[in-house]
Amino acid sequence: MLMCRDLARIGSDYIDGKLRPAETISVRMHLMMCKDCRSFIGNLRESVRLIQSHSDYRMDEDYATRIDGAINDALTRQRGK
Ligand SMILES: [Zn+2]
Repeated sequence: MLMCRDLARIGSDYIDGKLRPAETISVRMHLMMCKDCRSFIGNLRESVRLIQSHSDYRMDEDYATRIDGAINDALTRQRGK
């Protein structure tokens, strides 16, 4: 069974359609049961869409590091539950 931390790790590959079929099914099953991951994937998908709609935009290193930090914080909070 896929755990929330697995989904956090492979979520962007799921959105990009890069997962193997068996993994995709596991993700979908997890999303059916897990509200937190549904909103996580929803937010991730929205971010990807925004980034793709600004494809000439380059994220600067500082900003990327801050986002990484925010994601890690969110994951830590989720694990604490
Ligand atoms: Zn989950």
